Amino acid sequence: MKHHIRALLFDLDGVVVTTDRLHHAGWKRLCDELGWDFPSALGDSLRGVGRIDAMQLITSHNGQELEAAQVEELANRKNEYYRASLDEIGDGDLIPGALDFIDQAKAEGVACAICSSSKNAEDILAKLGLTDKFDVVISGNHITRSKPDPEVFVKAAEALGVPAFHCLVLEDAVAGVEGALAAGMKCIGIGSEKELPMAPDVARDFSEIDLGAVLDSGRCSRPEPDGWRLVENALRSKRMLYWESAFAVTNGMLGVRGNLEEHTEGFPSYPATQINGIVGYMPYQFMWAFPGYPERGHRVMNCVEWTHLELAVDGERFDLKHPGLKSHRRWLDMREGVLHREFVFSTCKDIEVKVKTRRLASMVNRHLAAIEYAVEVSGDCQVVLVNRIDAAPQSRHYGEKGMEPIDWDTSQADRICLQQCSHTSGQRVDSLFNLSALRRDAPLATAVTIEGSVASVRMETALSAGESLVYGNRALFVSDLETAVEQMQSRLESLWQDLPSLSKTFDQQAAFWKNYWDRFDAVIEGDSLDQLGVRLSLFHNRQSSPDDGVRSVSANGQTGDNYGGHVFWDTEMYIVPPILYSEPEAVRPLLDYRYSILDKAREQARRMQGKGALYSWNSITGEECAHVYEASTAEYHLQSAVAWAIDRYVDATGDKAYLHAKGAEMIFETARFLRDRGCFSEHKDNRFVINVVCGPNEYSCGVDNNAYTNYLAQWHFRTAAKVAAAMQTEAPEAWQELSQRIGLSDGEVNGWTEAAERMYLPWDEKLGIIPQDDNFLGRDPVDMSKIPLHTDVRSLVHPLNLWRMQLIKQADTVLLLFLFRHLFDAETVRKTYQFHEPKTNHGSSLSACMHAIVASDIGEDEAAYNFFRESALMDINDLKGNTDGGVHSACLGGTWMALVNGFGGMRDTPEGLSLNPRLPKAWQSLAFSFTYRGTVLRVEMTTKVTTVRHLEGPELSLTLSGEGVVLQSAGEVSLIS
Ligand code: BGC
Repeated sequence: MKHHIRALLFDLDGVVVTTDRLHHAGWKRLCDELGWDFPSALGDSLRGVGRIDAMQLITSHNGQELEAAQVEELANRKNEYYRASLDEIGDGDLIPGALDFIDQAKAEGVACAICSSSKNAEDILAKLGLTDKFDVVISGNHITRSKPDPEVFVKAAEALGVPAFHCLVLEDAVAGVEGALAAGMKCIGIGSEKELPMAPDVARDFSEIDLGAVLDSGRCSRPEPDGWRLVENALRSKRMLYWESAFAVTNGMLGVRGNLEEHTEGFPSYPATQINGIVGYMPYQFMWAFPGYPERGHRVMNCVEWTHLELAVDGERFDLKHPGLKSHRRWLDMREGVLHREFVFSTCKDIEVKVKTRRLASMVNRHLAAIEYAVEVSGDCQVVLVNRIDAAPQSRHYGEKGMEPIDWDTSQADRICLQQCSHTSGQRVDSLFNLSALRRDAPLATAVTIEGSVASVRMETALSAGESLVYGNRALFVSDLETAVEQMQSRLESLWQDLPSLSKTFDQQAAFWKNYWDRFDAVIEGDSLDQLGVRLSLFHNRQSSPDDGVRSVSANGQTGDNYGGHVFWDTEMYIVPPILYSEPEAVRPLLDYRYSILDKAREQARRMQGKGALYSWNSITGEECAHVYEASTAEYHLQSAVAWAIDRYVDATGDKAYLHAKGAEMIFETARFLRDRGCFSEHKDNRFVINVVCGPNEYSCGVDNNAYTNYLAQWHFRTAAKVAAAMQTEAPEAWQELSQRIGLSDGEVNGWTEAAERMYLPWDEKLGIIPQDDNFLGRDPVDMSKIPLHTDVRSLVHPLNLWRMQLIKQADTVLLLFLFRHLFDAETVRKTYQFHEPKTNHGSSLSACMHAIVASDIGEDEAAYNFFRESALMDINDLKGNTDGGVHSACLGGTWMALVNGFGGMRDTPEGLSLNPRLPKAWQSLAFSFTYRGTVLRVEMTTKVTTVRHLEGPELSLTLSGEGVVLQSAGEVSLIS
């Protein structure tokens, strides 16, 4: 697999070689001759700027107005001086470390280019004997516009044949950095953050750049190798939003982004607290609104900003630009489920101030989030701390303020009560902020004032050396989604009555996570980043999963709103499995959520002139929000995904009562919809076909017989018929009630069986593969070297072109190969995978994990590991460049699947449980646990042996690398590799 970064584009001056002194001398000589001013700051601002543009800056600095011809003449004169001095250039002018870096990159197969605005670039390279080091040189002789215009970079990328997404520019000048970003490339600034504030990452010199990190992620360095903690490695304004998502603490009911408490100008922030399911509506307008089009969309709201704190010591307000800032660290400790922050600064009176903060979203009480802010000082001083609570904050991706305060109650000294509603949806949120402030361990008074939509909690105190002020805010939230409106206040009061102390709140959280990790930690020996990625996967998966049955897990969990807080098939196919195979009962609330919107799904089916129920592709409340229908509503496979999750849950838990009460109804109604969508086609030998759909590959729309959809529909119809038959004997009353209520006849059930038996399943005899759909093989082939990986190309190619292409966004047929592995022989799996994977640009974060599983299955071990790593590091490395809007929840779930279903080879099929361990070469060992039908197993794989231990639950039969084994309580079985 290729590196994420495939081409390095180097500026010449200041990056590979330094000609600054020669340029500077040339300009100086010219200005001296003209009697013009040439301060060194002006000289610095000319770095990276083309000669004519530079000349213009000089003339305007000197208040001169020259004709274009004169400008050119003077610029040429300076160039003569400069060129004459070039003879002096030698190895001593090379930037230390640059050549080694380039050599190492080339050894890794990475293309290298020079991108310089200078017309002398070729001469300089020749004089230094460097011409052959570069695959391409684009200089001032090839471009018409100098930096910051992106032309020089765009031309280099074109000449190298590498898409912009995979190019990284190394630049030392503002104009160059701007040009690189305008070209859509990654960029590392060589210099300081102060000089290059817009650079996504900076290094003072090459000694600070880790090539491996650059090629993997486009960043100078890797995260700290700590398997339990995600650590912010540098305080950079450009990375603030990223860390807010990565550091978000959530619990399924609510999510608090990991923003800094203070606001610092120039440090972007979206300090949102999202209450899962609380939305704002946005009207949609179509010129021609066809039947079934949505009338409005909805987006999860930033409900309240309550984590904003302002600290002032002796009147000096702290923010990140404070000149006395000495150190600053933040980390998410997954072992205890807490976000930590520590920083130290000195005031101008030389008082050292140490601040420690901790933050959590409680997994023990899902209504609770808490923050603690402790200030310790080294000398006598006056400390003021203000906590602002904004009840009408701005929501990103939402035009207007979404929430508005209805009422504040500050009648009790240690708490603020707030009632809010969503402006457009009318949904209610009530909150209670329990405030505590301690000085020298004694309570300190807080003063609350309210102005407009903002409440301010103010504390002021004198502290002596070694003393501290500790402020705590425990925030309780209830909404009308899980609590009846008339009970919200009393619910809040009772939560408040039972509220544990701040330190107990943190202790309880640590105990929750300890228990979780003790049972389900996955341990990798061999690579600390892989370990971090897997723990992050488990952590986010668990912390995003709600337990109340009225909300689900959105594509970003509750860490951000890139996907609007919408729930997709991600939940059932990617997020459910890690939960299902650890704590299966925790899946039920997610199914309940689907049940709670079943009527909306029925309505949606009607609007689409269909039968049964059609779950909306992206939605929170059940209403369809997708305003394109081709790669959304047409993804009917979501209907079977819901049925799949129900079936797996019932199988894992034996909870037939749930099946009879709710599950069956969802399985039947969605089966009904699918049955109605397809037909028996005479043209296809009277097979059951499902036409004009979109499979998971959203680059192919309106296709006939997507293999993934049809296989899943076949399974769905069979399951629906099986459930109907079983219910008639196992739960006749429930069957009677349900079948009458939804008008389900034996004839209709038989129709499902018939459709399943006669399902048309795409197969290409000549190639011996399952093609993606009926039309795929006939589409235009694509030169994949021109297609960027990991990016959704729908923003680059018109749909009418895209739909004609043999281009795949994500695991589609490959996912089928995993889900229904027992139906296919090894050769079919291998050939089908090898046909589709090379046509896939993994434009969705849902792709790599499934490819890891199937690659491992067919013995492509290196590819499997690379795909696993891509998935595991998706958010750590911000591979798609959009983690600032929230982590990728499905990918995080899929990472665990890549580990367990991929390297563990775990399959749960109608034939039973099987394991087929394949340890990646990069690791010495891997251990993970999972639950199967009430039995918890621990699998430990080393290079020599795999051991499967029975930890709890009933006796279990399974197949281990083809051998049938039975595991009893406390038993274990080992297999030599
Ligand atoms: C993917 C979908 C996914 C959605 C939300 C899209 O880019 O193609 O499969 O459901 O993102 O994660």
